[in-house]
Amino acid sequence: MASNTELFERAARVIPGGVNSPVRAFRAVGGTPRFIARGEGAYIWDAEGRRYIDYIGSWGPMILGHGHPAVLEAVTKAATEGFSFGAPTEREIELAEEILKLVPSIDQVRLVSSGTEATMSAIRLARGATGRPKFIKFEGCYHGHTDALLVKAGSGLATFGHPTSAGVTPGAAADTLVLEYNNVEQLEAAFAEVGHELACVIVEPIAGNMNFVRASVPFMTALRRLCSKHGALLVLDEVMTGFRVALGSAQSHYATLIPGFAPDISVFGKVIGGGMPLAAFGARRDVMQHLAPLGGVYQAGTLSGNPVATACGLATLREIQKPGFFEALSARTRQLVDGLKAVAADNGVPFSADSEGGMFGFFLLPELPQNYAKVMTTDKDRFNRFFHAMLDAGIYLAPALYEAGFVSAAHSQADIDATLAAARTALR
Ligand code: PMP
Repeated sequence: MASNTELFERAARVIPGGVNSPVRAFRAVGGTPRFIARGEGAYIWDAEGRRYIDYIGSWGPMILGHGHPAVLEAVTKAATEGFSFGAPTEREIELAEEILKLVPSIDQVRLVSSGTEATMSAIRLARGATGRPKFIKFEGCYHGHTDALLVKAGSGLATFGHPTSAGVTPGAAADTLVLEYNNVEQLEAAFAEVGHELACVIVEPIAGNMNFVRASVPFMTALRRLCSKHGALLVLDEVMTGFRVALGSAQSHYATLIPGFAPDISVFGKVIGGGMPLAAFGARRDVMQHLAPLGGVYQAGTLSGNPVATACGLATLREIQKPGFFEALSARTRQLVDGLKAVAADNGVPFSADSEGGMFGFFLLPELPQNYAKVMTTDKDRFNRFFHAMLDAGIYLAPALYEAGFVSAAHSQADIDATLAAARTALR
């Protein structure tokens, strides 16, 4: 049996950094990533046979836990019928119908294979539909790794962005304006200056890529109002929050807080694929009609609407609609978050935490931060020590202080208790 260390060394010889997505390399927290051999329910086992309670859940998709019987059955059946045809299938219609039923703001949806593809396509669609070039994103939100989205703030307001990655040209970043999350004043000023040139604003309604930061109600209200006023489209990136924080996704939550609230374009991923490569973007019919083959906005994919992935997504979406599913998941997640807060308080550790549905975040900060700069004031060394103490105790948390966590329906009361016991020791 190869150890994690041996596997990591072997991987690093043939895969850059030993991983196929950077955060898996544990660069932020140090140490050796665990090579996962298998998962079942709330648990994963590494190559050395050690068991962990999994709070990453593949970064969100595994809302039912690993190897849910109904999903396994659906995937197995689909696989025997054929892996991919590159032709339309009835299951794509079923998945689209299921998504539309749960998300009333969209009339039509197109399936793709990753969140990156979905946000990229949503922005092209917004640009094509409005005939405008520019868009706003917010610091600390991640929308995948297409060139125009790998951008950080310029030096002043309404100075457009600078690439955050080598290989992204200034030209590709030039139409992206990066603003501070939850900053209404800055948003107003930006719209006043360049509102007529904006195709869209893209935003994570609960930003899971800076741990867990909610868009405040005044911020979301301003986003909706300013987009409508200036003819820009509001794109909600629900890749992480979609079918994870509520059955109707984060937009249903904001619709209860802001009368009449709805985005113009919604982007989904993770849970809608149930762990298979599947994502989607959807909007009102008049917006979606701009897509090829109907309209002039080109978008395509060899594996889009893949039969096995759609079977996995459909089975997952059907499970989460069962009565009481979200109530139980939310309660379980809140138990974890409240428990962690209590343990931290007992130990005099500055701590704050929040959750919605099956998504949570915790900070080694006395108050919940409202933007990326605040998140990054966390004591990194302290977080890393906590992370490793938990990992050693068999609790698999995200290996970076700016990542959200996820609870699945498979997490039991005993799992939460074991996690809190480990946290008690770790925080001490
Ligand atoms: N948007 C959000 C909000 C995400 O969290 C992610 C991935 N974590 C993406 C887009 C990109 O999705 P993918 O990794 O599937 O390309």
